[in-house]
Amino acid sequence: MEKTGFRRNLINITPYVAGEQPKNDRIIKLNANENAYPPSPMVQKAINGFDVSSLRRYPDFSGEPLRSRLAEYYGLKTSQIFVGNGSDDVLAAAFRAFFNGSEPILYPDVTYSFYPVWCEILKIPFKTIPLREDFTINVDDYCVPNGGIIFPNPNAPTSIALSKGEIIRLLDANRDVIVVLDETYIDFGGESCVDLLGSYDNLVITRTFSKSRSLAGMRLGFAMGSEELISYMNAVKDSYNSYPVDAVAIAAGCAAVEDDEYFKGTLKKLIATRERLAGEFTELGFKVAASAANFLFVTHPRYKAKDIFTYLRDKGIFIRYFDSPRIDNYLRITVGTDEESDRLTEAVREFVR
Ligand SMILES: *Cc1c(COP(=O)(O)O)cnc(C)c1O
Repeated sequence: MEKTGFRRNLINITPYVAGEQPKNDRIIKLNANENAYPPSPMVQKAINGFDVSSLRRYPDFSGEPLRSRLAEYYGLKTSQIFVGNGSDDVLAAAFRAFFNGSEPILYPDVTYSFYPVWCEILKIPFKTIPLREDFTINVDDYCVPNGGIIFPNPNAPTSIALSKGEIIRLLDANRDVIVVLDETYIDFGGESCVDLLGSYDNLVITRTFSKSRSLAGMRLGFAMGSEELISYMNAVKDSYNSYPVDAVAIAAGCAAVEDDEYFKGTLKKLIATRERLAGEFTELGFKVAASAANFLFVTHPRYKAKDIFTYLRDKGIFIRYFDSPRIDNYLRITVGTDEESDRLTEAVREFVR
């Protein structure tokens, strides 16, 4: 609707809609790609032992000592790490710092729906590139003049990863724009491109603690890139908030990074459950995309995705349905614990029978 009067100057945005957060504990929540398992017991210990009197001070402005911990973990320099309040905050800094050209930035037509939100707010010109029919990314489509590129690897909500060879091909064709790889789900599968950072000074990789490290409620994310590009992200951050990550989150984040054994253990369990669930859904007649993430992207040739979604919802099982072009007959299902997955499969089996 055309806005008139003072309303014509209001911001014109369509906000990102997150998965519902139902309050009832008996429900099975598989709609936001949260981790099925709690964070490391070391995180609990760090929070229990946190010195509250230290909260009278501002936290470290660059997120230390978490920044150094992450640098060590990934074999980078501290100056190559940017820390923020969840990767959405990190992505916001990246969009502001890197996408200031007049040519449109490129991202897939089916992808994380926060990208268009930032483009709208920041008035960044963009062009969406259709995924192939099978929902894979065609790198050739990105070898055209552009103002920058961003996509998740593995992609969301499709769960499909792009091979490192293909990403290298994309990077080689795009040396003079900034490429942001959103590696939110890379711990669950796919090949990380962190080791390409030394060869491509126009590459920035974003990560989050929300999914693989079970800390969605803490709001922690980070970016890795060249010292130069990270300095621009910090400059953007400092221009509106110099102290983004709170001291408790820094302590929790450090503990999560230190307990690598626990981290790898939960990943292994989730991946095993994912593969089992994918097999069961295939047996039930679903087409299941090859997932490299902690969720499945499925469709059934005989049943409407929306009907399955509603049926499960009435049974207290929440999955994600997007009423969007191309994917309105698909479902995105977070991989839960084995028990949750069994209850999900059982309910779906009842439906298709
Ligand atoms: C969940 C998600 C994020 C953001 O996670 P935060 O909780 O803000 O760290 C970013 N990108 C993709 C593709 C996601 O699915």
